[in-house]
Amino acid sequence: MSKITKVNGKLIVPDIVTIPFIEGDGVGAEITPVCQEIVNAAVAKAYKGKRRIEWKEILAGGKAFDQTGEWLPEDTLQAFREYLVGIKGPLTTPIGGGIRSLNVALRQTLDLFVCLRPVRWFKGVVSPIKEPQKVDMVIFRENTEDIYAGIEWKQGTPEAEKFLKFLTEEMNVTKIRFPKTSSFGIKPVSIEGTERLVRAAIKYAIDNNRPNVTFVHKGNIMKFTEGGFKLWGYDLAEREFKDKVFTMLQYEKIKNESGADKAKEALDKAKAEHKIIIKDCICDAFLQNTLLIPEEYSVIATMNLNGDYISDQLAAMVGGIGIAPGANINYDSGYAIFEATHGTAPNIAGKNIVNPSSLVLSSVMMLEYLGWNEAGEIIEKALESSFQEGMATEDLARFMPQGTSLKTTEFGNTIIKLINETK
Ligand code: NAD
Repeated sequence: MSKITKVNGKLIVPDIVTIPFIEGDGVGAEITPVCQEIVNAAVAKAYKGKRRIEWKEILAGGKAFDQTGEWLPEDTLQAFREYLVGIKGPLTTPIGGGIRSLNVALRQTLDLFVCLRPVRWFKGVVSPIKEPQKVDMVIFRENTEDIYAGIEWKQGTPEAEKFLKFLTEEMNVTKIRFPKTSSFGIKPVSIEGTERLVRAAIKYAIDNNRPNVTFVHKGNIMKFTEGGFKLWGYDLAEREFKDKVFTMLQYEKIKNESGADKAKEALDKAKAEHKIIIKDCICDAFLQNTLLIPEEYSVIATMNLNGDYISDQLAAMVGGIGIAPGANINYDSGYAIFEATHGTAPNIAGKNIVNPSSLVLSSVMMLEYLGWNEAGEIIEKALESSFQEGMATEDLARFMPQGTSLKTTEFGNTIIKLINETK
């Protein structure tokens, strides 16, 4: 039996586990085999043959189109449903053909509501900030709602006109500055969508001994959508995690009733008891604070658009696109797809210079998701040793004072050697 199952909310992972993978377009063919060799070496090192991954190739993107005439064959979706956990390289976005994006199609079909992005700095990697060691955050970005839901009408179309008529005639909207030439988009943010995202973020913080969860929003301007997200988030935290969290709403209440000293006392007590502090921050202030006081933030829960901006800024703070891992997860069904967060990089494809670290670190996240943390730690240590010695692919090595630019395959072999030498 090599399939992962979910029983009573828990993942059951067999020692020999089948993991479906999508090779990916462009640089996918270069990073995927290197990544698999690294993961195999780390699993062998950590479990001495007791545990193993059997990789099962499934098709999507250009390779799928060439072989089957479809960009995202039903068999591929079925494999993710059957095996629960998989990994993918980057996919080309087909032009025309009715699919907006294969990544979006995968997320929507499997209802992968969390886009998970851990952001940490590795010693040796050159960063644009002074103290990158203070950056250690995990972003939970909502993946299914918000202005990204894809409900929009182009200016000048009959649909936009019809929508404008509804707004002005039935909803008495008078605030549209240039009605005749406006395009329109809809921003749905729901209680259920917020709650499942926030629940996953708080559970993660509890399971991983993280000190705080911050809701990042623009509720000061968008009161019912982003403001709703904040309020429903606090509600859920106090309702479902009462004994494990202390919220800034509780703090404010104590402050109003008993004064600032008592509120501070309660906050200090909660911290001493290792309760998770639940707070919130307006998105623009948050983006500043991540540069000025990154150590104050640990787990971030946010909506789709904010999450997009935040993920890229934080990734740039610790080394950029070649090294940022990610996953899309449904914590209720257990479906999880780990992925390289960069694109197919057509400008460097086939040159053996692409950095495989994004996919490798996504594999580390996958190993952690499976509960195979030991193997993940071995990979992270090997990457850090390599970076500290200035051994990296060109995208990182060119900024390192003593950097040596390695080819993708050379870098892979260096990491495997370091894994094999791990004590
Ligand atoms: P891209 O991420 O492919 O490339 C942007 C720049 O970063 C390029 O200069 C590239 O060489 C560099 N780069 C990216 N990954 C790198 C790595 N691992 N090592 C070294 N350098 C790296 O973005 P793009 O050019 O805007 O998109 C190209 C294609 O990829 C498009 O079809 C796009 O739709 C698709 N795409 C897919 C995904 C995904 O599958 N998750 C994500 C983004 C873009």
